[in-house]
Amino acid sequence: DVSLEHIVKAYGEHVVLDDVSLSVREGEVCAIIGPSGAGKSTLLRCINLLERPDSGTIRVGDTTIDAGQEVGGKQLHGLRRQVGMVFQSFNLFPHLTVLRNIALPQERVLGRSRAEAEDRAMELLQRVGLGDKPAQYPSRCSGGQQQRVAIARALALDPKVMLFDEPTSALDPELGLEVLAVMRELADEGMTMIVVTHEMQFARDVSDHLIVMGHGTVLEEGQPEKIFTDPATDRTRRFLRAVL
Ligand code: ATP
Ligand code: MG
Repeated sequence: DVSLEHIVKAYGEHVVLDDVSLSVREGEVCAIIGPSGAGKSTLLRCINLLERPDSGTIRVGDTTIDAGQEVGGKQLHGLRRQVGMVFQSFNLFPHLTVLRNIALPQERVLGRSRAEAEDRAMELLQRVGLGDKPAQYPSRCSGGQQQRVAIARALALDPKVMLFDEPTSALDPELGLEVLAVMRELADEGMTMIVVTHEMQFARDVSDHLIVMGHGTVLEEGQPEKIFTDPATDRTRRFLRAVL
């Protein structure tokens, strides 16, 4: 399970997260939508402390971190070990093959042997539909292939939860579909996921729980179908009208 309680984050005078709480159960897919600048990325980055909240509590599995308290290296490591993250930009290592991109972090972070890490990497490459590409370099891969490698790389560390920040928004639509298909499969297999997305169809079809953010607050949350067909607030209604 993942939960955020009463998260507040400001940059100087600018409050970008104003008492945001969220809770995702194991095996659940939570989608976060909302206009640009709403604080979606900042919220996601607070979950693995890429961004440090000013106050609030973060709980991932058995790790609880209070924003107010000093966070030790061991605690931070414990938190990040459980959280996989996929960004809009793929950030693969350009000088490593696809296989080595997925194997190396396992060797460094989990201490797996090279053979073990590469076996696992092959297994994951097959799972994301790239079983024929282990020796390819990222520069020779399409954007959709690179993003699927990035997903495999994150999965290779056996996270308890996967965070996605607009994983398809840098891709041509048809390449985005390949990535969304992999994400759907992951969801079907029971991976706990929190997905910031502009893909309304994906949010509607795949998520169990939908959060609509605006100006640093949760405007509305609940069952996706309900929110898409009968939003509770005017601001949600206006946002959905603009994007659908
Ligand atoms: P988008 O849909 O465009 O990705 P978002 O909902 O992800 O938007 P955030 O990136 O979380 O929004 O940004 C929320 C607000 O915080 C914005 O007003 C942004 O300008 C501000 N912000 C984000 N990062 C910083 C930073 N490092 N320093 C100052 N302000 C920041
Ligand atoms: Mg963002």
